[in-house]
Amino acid sequence: TAFSHEFNTASYKGKASFNTGLFIDGKFVDGSNKTFIDVVNPTSGKVITKIAEGTSKDVDTAVEAAQRAFDTTWGLNAPGALRSRLLTKLSQLMERDQQELAALEALDNGKTFAWAMNDTSAAIETVRYYAGWADKIHGQVQETDEKKLTYTRHEPIGVVGQIIPWNFPLLMFSWKIAPALATGNTIVMKPSEFTPLTAIRMCSLIQEAGFPPGVVNVVTGYGHTVGQAMASHMKIEKIAFTGSTLTGRRIMESAAKSNLKKVTLELGGKSPNIVFNDANVDEAVAWAAHGLFWNHGQTCCAGTRIFVQSGIYDEFLKRFTEKSKQIKVGDPFAPETSQGPQVSQVQYDRIMSYIKSGKEQGAKLHLGGDRAGSEGYFIQPTIFTETKPEMKIVQEEIFGPVGVVIKFEDEEDVVRQANDTVYGLAAAVFSQDINRALTVAHKLKAGTAWVNCYNLIDANVPFGGFKQSGIGRECGEYALENYTNVKAVHVNL
Ligand code: NAD
Repeated sequence: TAFSHEFNTASYKGKASFNTGLFIDGKFVDGSNKTFIDVVNPTSGKVITKIAEGTSKDVDTAVEAAQRAFDTTWGLNAPGALRSRLLTKLSQLMERDQQELAALEALDNGKTFAWAMNDTSAAIETVRYYAGWADKIHGQVQETDEKKLTYTRHEPIGVVGQIIPWNFPLLMFSWKIAPALATGNTIVMKPSEFTPLTAIRMCSLIQEAGFPPGVVNVVTGYGHTVGQAMASHMKIEKIAFTGSTLTGRRIMESAAKSNLKKVTLELGGKSPNIVFNDANVDEAVAWAAHGLFWNHGQTCCAGTRIFVQSGIYDEFLKRFTEKSKQIKVGDPFAPETSQGPQVSQVQYDRIMSYIKSGKEQGAKLHLGGDRAGSEGYFIQPTIFTETKPEMKIVQEEIFGPVGVVIKFEDEEDVVRQANDTVYGLAAAVFSQDINRALTVAHKLKAGTAWVNCYNLIDANVPFGGFKQSGIGRECGEYALENYTNVKAVHVNL
């Protein structure tokens, strides 16, 4: 199968053509069943291309290739300097083809081309950052007694499985492969069946960069087949997953029932954004809108519960509403667009059912609430007020451009409400009083706390969840721990 597409848009003109088979052992191949999955353009609802539908048999073949590479050309056979050089080369090739990668992402995900350029920059930065780590992985010499030499080695785990979602396809791909390759592991990767194009395109860049065959294998397919086969595979020794909490739970169960593979999970969120009376309201409004509506609300750390102190509640809501009304919903390739379509019909339906439930449970629909446009999966920026803590729109992750604005009185009350969720991915505080801002930031149960800002994410800063938002950390030095086994060596002198 092959994909060919001519982009002739205001933002990008160019042609993309590539094989859309599975990428196993350095080659593009058909799936063993010779069946295909339609990839749909969320802007129009029309099919863009077909990709290979992988099976559990293809996962077996990919794992064998990855194991062979680990034992011969990669793993302990590839010195850090070589891993570093290849990752650096990959980041340069991504930079060369950045516009095409961004265009592919705007096409199958529906994010605006401008934001896709931002995402691809972050992806490139991630690969570059871990290229820097690859030759700096080391253990320690431990003091025991004079007649012994004891030291630790941080060895690669082996074949690792990586399963990623559709909301930041290339960025998640990079967050996963870069630390795993820097530490010497080989990979079987499954991108989301909704947004596979950049992952497939990356295979040719990985090949061009000079990674040996089998080091990175990409098996496209469905979660309940390919994903499930990976999670329960006896020869995959570690699985890294980003996606919903429900699927994360299933993956952990499969890992427990198979070979007790190591599991790291990046899951959902329902993050609080707290604005105190003494906040700079202009700044708080701008960051809150970015926090909620970035990537059409399809962001695991989205600030979906906006708590505003009573003294500025009316003013904040008025200005936040004005700001939300300025969001231009439309074609992701039009330069003036700030919000494209939701990723799929399934997500569109899911979000609309949450909006319905908000109305039925008695919240006040303050803004939006309807589809936008006549085709594709567009939804208006939507704000609810006058909610109750037990409502579904306050408790559950909607993963769309839908937020609630909640009035609060004092610090103790807002901290309690903010922490009243099964999730713990992120949180934000807006206040000009540094003591209060930091005290509250420390009390919030979240893996990331932003103060007077939102959604700042860097390749060198750890990211991950408390509570049911996940296990382990991605990015920064912390992610290296996900991909190494520590061995202690005792020498009797
Ligand atoms: P999802 O869990 O349905 O799918 C994620 C991936 O898992 C896809 O590749 C899918 O094919 C695969 N999958 C589905 N069922 C599987 C199974 N039984 N076994 C193995 N793999 C399976 O999630 P989604 O709808 O693609 O993504 C949205 C969710 O992801 C949201 O809840 C969001 O919060 C979460 N997310 C979290 C982060 C984070 O960093 N914490 C980042 C992005 C998305």
